[in-house]
Amino acid sequence: QAENPGETEFHNTVKEVLTSIAPVLEKNPKYQQAAILERIVEPERVVMFRVPWTDDAGKVHVNKGYRVQFNSAIGPYKGGLRLHPSVNLSIIKFLGFEQVFKNSLTTLPIGGGKGGSNFDPKGKSDAEIMRFCQSFMTELCRHIGLNTDVPAGDIGVGGREIGYLYGQYKRIRNAYDAGVLTGKGLNYGGSLARTEATGYGLLYFTKLMLADAGLDYKDKTVVISGSGNVATYAIEKAQEFGAKVVACSDSNGYVYDKDGIDLALVKEIKEVRRGRIKEYVDAKPSAEYHEGCKGIWTIPCDIALPCATQQELDLESAKALVANGVKAVGEGANMPSTLDAIEYLQNNNVLFAPAKAANAGGVAVSALEMAQNSMRYSWTFEEVDNKLKNIMADIYENSKRCAKEYGHEGDLLVGCNIAGFLKVADAMLAQGVC
Ligand code: NDP
Repeated sequence: QAENPGETEFHNTVKEVLTSIAPVLEKNPKYQQAAILERIVEPERVVMFRVPWTDDAGKVHVNKGYRVQFNSAIGPYKGGLRLHPSVNLSIIKFLGFEQVFKNSLTTLPIGGGKGGSNFDPKGKSDAEIMRFCQSFMTELCRHIGLNTDVPAGDIGVGGREIGYLYGQYKRIRNAYDAGVLTGKGLNYGGSLARTEATGYGLLYFTKLMLADAGLDYKDKTVVISGSGNVATYAIEKAQEFGAKVVACSDSNGYVYDKDGIDLALVKEIKEVRRGRIKEYVDAKPSAEYHEGCKGIWTIPCDIALPCATQQELDLESAKALVANGVKAVGEGANMPSTLDAIEYLQNNNVLFAPAKAANAGGVAVSALEMAQNSMRYSWTFEEVDNKLKNIMADIYENSKRCAKEYGHEGDLLVGCNIAGFLKVADAMLAQGVC
């Protein structure tokens, strides 16, 4: 902590991982001898840069740009770009660190990285978003490449932004390196099922966890926070599995619809109009809208899927969920639960699917997008979806197995951290001190 003062989010994720892997270190002194821990918590490279851009009125603004290239032991750095006013070095480092283990879990050859800016896309015109993305890529393009670092989307970066970023990359580099960014549009190198992958993957993973406990999504009441990419496709798959999703949210507040969320309406508001979730009640007055995000966890449900942002589910929320009889919590967002909330849920026998494992479907399909780009060939939706299902099943089995092997049977958080760590640590050992 003394070496990285003020980086609270980064400290939290490092603490979570290091606590989990303690049994591995006890059994295998070779990792300590090679200072794997000291090396794994230090990014290989951090790039910080100025992003100047001009608004529609001609005023010049300056934002901070970041790319943290965390670990390339098993493949090129891979991880999203986040555009949100809260972005700072601690948040990008926490996301990059998580990404190292998540990418390792996918079994695909991708290292970990993350980037972004404190730019706020809300309320900006298309032209302003484009000028920002062009300025951001003008610097970022020096640091990324097909075999070096392959960014993707995250909060505030969807298909539109990836398009503008890719256009600028291609213009500067004079190269059609489709595999340099993932999450692209289908007509210029994108993969079918990438948009759905994180939300669907979360549901595939949690379904397996529920099945092991003799439970299923059918007829269950589900609360899902967020209404962005991950939340939307988590809602879609949960409904397909026969669950009733009764709530979703954005950063201003949440909607409770006891009849079940109308997903077509959510997509119309968020994807087409780029509006606010409170507009839901204009079209469906029988639903309720509440200001503020935290209240969403006081809605009684069987399964809770936090899919908005980090640290959104705290101890108080965990207590409310348990008091209302929640049976399972699955993390769609990155680090959405605080450490004390996780402990409380696990101590109260709530099944817990940790983010690194449960939301790895998005990056897994991003790696499949890279594979398709290399082959200059596209798989069908069903082919990609089947690969995604298999990958999520492998992650689940691997996490379960590692938890058991190291004396923490049933604890998927410990299991996924150990599984993710072992592959990266062994690759680092094999590659010597570097
Ligand atoms: P989007 O930008 O599409 O959606 C984010 C959603 O979360 C929006 O509804 C947003 O509301 C809400 N939100 C953002 N910040 C806050 C906040 N401080 N409090 C409450 N709600 C908030 O992002 P994604 O759906 O892509 O990402 C959601 C989470 O999933 C993130 O943690 C991301 O890192 C993680 N993730 C995403 C993957 C992907 O493939 N996209 C892959 C793996 C993880 P508003 O509209 O008001 O901003």
